[in-house]
Amino acid sequence: MPIPSPRQKEIAERIGGPNALSRWHDWHWQHRHTVRSLEDFQQLTGIAFTEAEKRELEKTIAHFPMSITPYYLSLVDPDDCRNDPVFRQAFPSPSELVTYPWDMADPLAEDIDSPAPQITHRYPDRVLFHISNVCAMYCRHCTRKRKVGDIDSIPDKATVLEGIEYIRSHPQVRDVLLSGGDPFMLSDNYLDWILTELRQIPHVELIRIGTRTPVVLPYRITDDLVAVLRKHHPIWVNTHFNHPREVTTSARTALARMADAGIPLGNQTVLLAGVNDCPRIMKRLVHKLVQNRVRPYYLYQCDLSEGLSHFRTPVGKGIEIIESLIGHTTGFAVPTYVIDAPGGGGKIPVMPNYLISWSTNKVILRNFEGVITTYKEPDSYEPIFCDRKCERCSLQLKLDDAEECRVTGIAQLISDADQRITLVPEMLERMERRDEELQNT
Ligand SMILES: *Cc1c(COP(=O)(O)O)cnc(C)c1O
Repeated sequence: MPIPSPRQKEIAERIGGPNALSRWHDWHWQHRHTVRSLEDFQQLTGIAFTEAEKRELEKTIAHFPMSITPYYLSLVDPDDCRNDPVFRQAFPSPSELVTYPWDMADPLAEDIDSPAPQITHRYPDRVLFHISNVCAMYCRHCTRKRKVGDIDSIPDKATVLEGIEYIRSHPQVRDVLLSGGDPFMLSDNYLDWILTELRQIPHVELIRIGTRTPVVLPYRITDDLVAVLRKHHPIWVNTHFNHPREVTTSARTALARMADAGIPLGNQTVLLAGVNDCPRIMKRLVHKLVQNRVRPYYLYQCDLSEGLSHFRTPVGKGIEIIESLIGHTTGFAVPTYVIDAPGGGGKIPVMPNYLISWSTNKVILRNFEGVITTYKEPDSYEPIFCDRKCERCSLQLKLDDAEECRVTGIAQLISDADQRITLVPEMLERMERRDEELQNT
């Protein structure tokens, strides 16, 4: 890991005296010394608040606690903290106490869609497995803000085993996404145990880990941790950089360690007002990510969680950002912009429109430069009748383990295998009238 900067030396010594600098790269030391009070924050950064500001901030912290790693604190710009993207993600704002009628404690219905402890099962073939209630830093924009700081605990083995049992007894689960909290706040041994248990389940093809430690505590990515991870391949890691300023030398070192261990790296960014709601900042960020072998994966519209209203942008801002990236830069540097459906519908991709019009066998498209073009479709195409009886089809799937395939949603309407011709919302008056008439006859 790189030598600490003069600023980091100053902060280390203010925390722990002249010998503390030698502990700077120790993630346990960083975690033990997270900054949780206004006094400590002022004393370490030299930033001073007025008495009135302090009263408002104390009220905010009482509701949504603060925790900042000394490392992330060292990235705050003390000369212009109020406009600083690092400060804004780490330091409370009294605006967090403003809630609107459309704000929710659990907008993604993660607690409702939870069939077993620590498990959210929303999609057909993959689950979210919350194995940690601990984070190195409390991000002010956390979508699970309802849980931040209430119980900083690691689920015990019995609880984790209940989640593992759920996965073992559901053979459709081929992809397990470890989340939290932050899974990398577990000890190497505990993580190793969980990964070993999961790897013993034959239908688990893929394990993914979502972590913000490369951003807020890069020293967590030790050689020992990486040695644990690489034993259990395929392991994918998804991290959470929101601003190019976060891609420091320490962060780059952490990313390189994982990439060198053959771990594919992705990144999810949350679109945040006053932090990264700018096409130039976002382009700079995705460029820095791909330079460090990290593939931008998702750009999230900010969720409707309580306490996040000041971070939200209109959806148009996200579309503007995607418009400024597609075609203008490396294709795989462009993340998918998604809105996570309130009420638990999952992620919905949102894009600028490229398909302008369509006639019989001709499509009208526009490109990123505004060129309008046509694509001629074939005049004749033998439609393939697909009732999903693949053994009778001339296309060769021919996989021994090609499993029975059930489709849902729009894909179900498209499929010939199903008699369904409409998807009808629940509680449609027209349908209720039909039911009533049926009962009356
Ligand atoms: C995001 C998410 C996943 C993973 O979705 P992908 O699109 O496969 O990355 C799985 N489960 C839940 C509940 C999620 O929110």
